[in-house]
Amino acid sequence: MDLSVVIPIYNEQENIQLLYTRVKGVLDKMLVSYELVFVNDGSKDSSLSLIEGLAAKDLNVKYIDFSRNFGHQIAVTAGLDHAIGDRVVIIDADLQDPPELIPEMYLRMDDNFQVVYARRRSRKGESFLKKVTAKMFYRTLSSITAIDIPLDTGDFRIIDRKVVDVLKNMPEQQKFLRGQISWIGFNQTYIEYDREERHGGQTGYTYKKMFRFALDGITSFSNLPLKVASLMGFIVSGIAFVIMLYALYIRFFHNDYVQGWTSMILSVMFIGGIQLICVGIIGEYISRISTNIRQRPLYITNKTNITSQD
Ligand code: UDP
Ligand code: MG
Repeated sequence: MDLSVVIPIYNEQENIQLLYTRVKGVLDKMLVSYELVFVNDGSKDSSLSLIEGLAAKDLNVKYIDFSRNFGHQIAVTAGLDHAIGDRVVIIDADLQDPPELIPEMYLRMDDNFQVVYARRRSRKGESFLKKVTAKMFYRTLSSITAIDIPLDTGDFRIIDRKVVDVLKNMPEQQKFLRGQISWIGFNQTYIEYDREERHGGQTGYTYKKMFRFALDGITSFSNLPLKVASLMGFIVSGIAFVIMLYALYIRFFHNDYVQGWTSMILSVMFIGGIQLICVGIIGEYISRISTNIRQRPLYITNKTNITSQD
């Protein structure tokens, strides 16, 4: 098998048919043997029956159906676990990532690259808030992590079997695939494209999911927030010490020490706030440690047409 295309699906009934036609059109021209691996991530619409319909007619269509919604990154992970191609493409189902780029990405791999990701030159049809938060997030992330996670890049990419095998052996429960793939290394390059609008339906990424995804990215690849927490502790204690000297000075050399209620209450609140922030940051890391210690399966399969693994 030359090529696997992994497609995570969450409520994409309006897009599946067109996606299938376009991907198939592109792959048939490439003269490679391929499979499409659909991962139905607990869709509440008729996505699953559409996929089953495709699988009944086309032997290249594989699918995995989750017992519930596990999230985009887990869906892609399941696809990678079951893909058997020498190269694997990860693509969104909503046609925001044009399948027509696949041949170009595939050919770039022949120049001894193990990862070719697609970088968005522009993105259409997404809310201003989403674009701004995404931009800020990628810039912050790259400034606080030691590895180079490419800017303005989603999961649309083609990766070599070597990379897939390493990914399969990375046990973390919080998946931030684009970070993990950068961390893995090998030769990586990119092509640029203009991101289209979503073809039909609505985004499955609520702000809540995006926020959790962003925190997963930061906590998986940086311990800087923890260091900042202790740094803030030192700074605040320093300030508190100076205030203490000042308070003693006032107390013994002037007689107006009854005053100062304002500064007292302010500093109590300030220190309290900093402490809570630090506890919160530590909490974010600890909650992730505890999730990893539980070692639950990443996802649960309801049904699939994939018989043997590997
Ligand atoms: N998706 C998924 N599980 C989810 C949310 C999204 O499998 O919980 C899939 C979705 O069907 C699509 C891809 O992940 O193929 C990207 O999601 P979406 O287009 O909703 O995100 P956006 O492009 O708005 O960031
Ligand atoms: Mg989308």
